[in-house]
Amino acid sequence: MQGTPYDPDNIFAKILRGEIPSHAVYEDEHTLAFMDVMPQSEGHTLVIPKTPSRNIFDADPTTFMWLMPTVQKIAKASKKAFHANGVRVVQFNEAGSGQTVFHLHFHVIPTYDGVELKLHARQQEDGGHLAHNAEMIREALKFIS
Ligand code: 5GP
Repeated sequence: MQGTPYDPDNIFAKILRGEIPSHAVYEDEHTLAFMDVMPQSEGHTLVIPKTPSRNIFDADPTTFMWLMPTVQKIAKASKKAFHANGVRVVQFNEAGSGQTVFHLHFHVIPTYDGVELKLHARQQEDGGHLAHNAEMIREALKFIS
């Protein structure tokens, strides 16, 4: 069965092409990590592959081989940067599951005891605050292997 084709004009594809700005925290040959503009918690970051795929259903399995080490790095760095109690890693596949941007991505969401997560993709964060948080993660990454 053929699924919906990848749309190269989705927002994350535009970020990858540098057509719209993002607060990047990490980049390597295969992956990019940047701040979510509508964070569910302090330090909410997105990790995406540079190769195009909508989600788990059409991605080549090797994509995950590149993505997961970056997800792990960002999880460790954001826990350290924000003194989080834990980190939730979330990934949605197709609209019915909650996916709103159709380029494969993992959410890396620091969690804080006694603080509820905000609703998914609802409230835009101030750009200066995102820039500050991105800097904190980049700094913490210097100490993560
Ligand atoms: P999804 O719902 O597809 O799992 O997650 C998409 C995420 O992308 C949401 O958490 C939303 O806040 C975030 N998002 C939507 N538009 C933009 C954007 O233009 N820039 C960034 N950095 N994040 C975005």
